[in-house]
Amino acid sequence: MKYDYLIVGSGLFGATVAYRAKKLGKKVLVIDKRNHIGGNVYTENIEGINVHKYGAHIFHTDYNEVWDFVNSFVEFNRYTNSPIARINNEVYNLPFNMNTFSKIWSDVFTPEDALKHINEERKEITGEPKNLEEQAISLVGRTIYEKLIKGYTEKQWNKDCKELPAFIIKRLPVRLIYDNNYFNDKYQGIPVGGYTNLVEKMLNDIEVKLNTNYFDNIDYCKSIAKKIIYTGPLDEYFNYSLGKLEWRSLVFDTKILNIENYQGNAVVNYTGHEVEYTRVIEHKHFENTSSSKTVITYEYPSDYKNGMERYYTVNDDKNNELADKYRKLASKEKNVLFGGRLAEYKYYDMDDVIKKALELEL
Ligand code: FAD
Ligand code: UDP
Repeated sequence: MKYDYLIVGSGLFGATVAYRAKKLGKKVLVIDKRNHIGGNVYTENIEGINVHKYGAHIFHTDYNEVWDFVNSFVEFNRYTNSPIARINNEVYNLPFNMNTFSKIWSDVFTPEDALKHINEERKEITGEPKNLEEQAISLVGRTIYEKLIKGYTEKQWNKDCKELPAFIIKRLPVRLIYDNNYFNDKYQGIPVGGYTNLVEKMLNDIEVKLNTNYFDNIDYCKSIAKKIIYTGPLDEYFNYSLGKLEWRSLVFDTKILNIENYQGNAVVNYTGHEVEYTRVIEHKHFENTSSSKTVITYEYPSDYKNGMERYYTVNDDKNNELADKYRKLASKEKNVLFGGRLAEYKYYDMDDVIKKALELEL
């Protein structure tokens, strides 16, 4: 066999495993069905600005080993994610913190003032929250739920908040300090030169074949490598034999504008139903790029349909049960290892994916 490892997918999982295998002296081939490397973290330089082609990606982690690993390839800047929320003609700071509370309630100046409102509004939920709406109200009260959560979440998932699981909202921080940093992690930043630069360095000197779909020639792929690392969709690998897993997709509408600064922030969330998009990204602010132009992207949530990309797993009970059945099949596949967001059907961040890939037994 020509290769020790055939790696299906050049996203962060595939690239991390490829790098490790190469370092162990193994012969590695990476294939990707897209015409570029990097999977969903791919950035493309447009008008001198690194554009996050598959949505805003902010690297954040608590894992020292992951931070050291990515920093061994490229430098990271000190970007701190502090999104702005817009609803109708109002503007608020995210995540929910003293800046948000003092704007929502004009008599809030101190944490005690904020807690007075939040605790009063929380009273309507008694017992353990049963769905996302109850979870949100018990977290920050109904006023904030209705302005900053309900519309955004319903657009994102195309479901009523009463029908969504509570865990989706649990990752949003609530802070009684004046701090707009969206993440709690120890480390945060954007790779200088964009994510493509990072993945290019990880794949340095590794053979990569683009525009190559594993499913177009499975037998050939299996015949050239001792082991396969598969990072594509879990259900697709098994030809949907147990049924289809549900995914959410996105439609991106990118525009180049002849102005220097469109919205004054990299990420602006539109939290109401008055517009259909959930976010507008202004890419130059991730790296503080100076340019007389700017590139912005409107992000429209969408049901997943054939031919689209799968972006978000839908980890409700029904899909988790089906994914478990597929995982059992996967564990029986000889000489094939499954990893990454698509192949594990897990709502992983970038650092989770790299951590799993660093821990994979090769
Ligand atoms: P992917 O990046 O999806 O890579 C899989 C690769 O496999 C793709 O290149 C695909 O083309 C290829 N492939 C699939 N099937 C085949 C096949 N049959 N043959 C050949 N190739 C195939 N994480 C964060 O930490 N911070 C963020 O701010 C953040 N923002 C996000 C925003 C959005 C809109 C999305 C969707 C995700 C975000 N994430 C974020 C998560 C992050 O994108 C993922 O954790 C990470 O990119 C997953 O890497 P992966 O290698 O598992 O998968
Ligand atoms: N969310 C919200 N309002 C916002 C941003 C997020 O209600 O302005 C909710 C929404 O339910 C979303 C979840 O928080 O699905 C997680 O959002 P986050 O931006 O952290 O995750 P991502 O979409 O980047 O994976």
